[in-house]
Amino acid sequence: MSGSNCPAEPWMYVVVCPHVVAGAPILYVVRDEPTDEVDSGWQLLCGTRDEDSIEGAQIWAVQDALSKDNTLAEIIQYPIGTHLLRAAIGDEWEPPNAS
Ligand SMILES: [Zn+2]
Repeated sequence: MSGSNCPAEPWMYVVVCPHVVAGAPILYVVRDEPTDEVDSGWQLLCGTRDEDSIEGAQIWAVQDALSKDNTLAEIIQYPIGTHLLRAAIGDEWEPPNAS
């Protein structure tokens, strides 16, 4: 599956960094090319710590991620290739190169 307009269906999965799993806010999101038909392509990250280690990362359903943080609803359908940052939950999402 490829293309920039893949819908992120509620039953598709997202990758959540270990810090978010532990309760950190989601402040950095990346939508990569999906690897299979149930992959939304989204990685939902805390954005404030070293994300090199994927140990402890989890797979969540899109609907579960939205349940944790309903502010994701505004960006969950953004196209593959999206990178967005925010300073806190409720702030505007911005591209990483925005100043
Ligand atoms: Zn993290």
